[in-house]
Amino acid sequence: MNDFSNRVPPTRPGAGDRMRAVFRTFLLGELLKGLRVTLRNFFRRKITLNYPAEKAPQSPRFRGLHALRRYSNGEERCIACKLCEAVCPALAITIESELREDGTRRASRYDIDLFKCVYCGFCEEACPVDAIVETRIHEYHMERRGENILTRERLLEIGDRYEEQIAADRSSDASYR
Ligand code: SF4
Ligand code: SF4
Repeated sequence: MNDFSNRVPPTRPGAGDRMRAVFRTFLLGELLKGLRVTLRNFFRRKITLNYPAEKAPQSPRFRGLHALRRYSNGEERCIACKLCEAVCPALAITIESELREDGTRRASRYDIDLFKCVYCGFCEEACPVDAIVETRIHEYHMERRGENILTRERLLEIGDRYEEQIAADRSSDASYR
């Protein structure tokens, strides 16, 4: 059984408190308090950004949308070693490989499921030839079912389009790798 004997009954506001509340309401005290905060911050340095017109600075290590890179002669870097597939904690990568006529091994299928990916960057860390990378692209969306799968063709297309930026980012980070 609970003992309620020690409980203090709630006190009702007295007539003085009620009068003060009425005065505060009519004198717009709360509003003035809010305006004082606005005024105090009005002349301070802005810490917010007018996104998307203004953008925050990005690190060269930013982990955004993936891309597959090529060598300068146009040859795909990926040798289908599947290290990225093995290291991916989200099991987001699916690779199938084939042997070419010249005896080299290349990926015939390279899919990344963006719904599974956690953008950890392990795939690019594991890649021995800098083939799979994460770019600075973070503003993207999907409109149709299935667009969450980045195919080899789409990955290569992204790589081709942003190679300059990717190469610059890799080179600025090279001494830390
Ligand atoms: S970033 Fe991480 S989760 Fe995404 S594909 Fe690469 S290893 Fe997998
Ligand atoms: S992207 Fe790199 S790690 Fe992944 S299969 Fe190709 S060469 Fe191997």
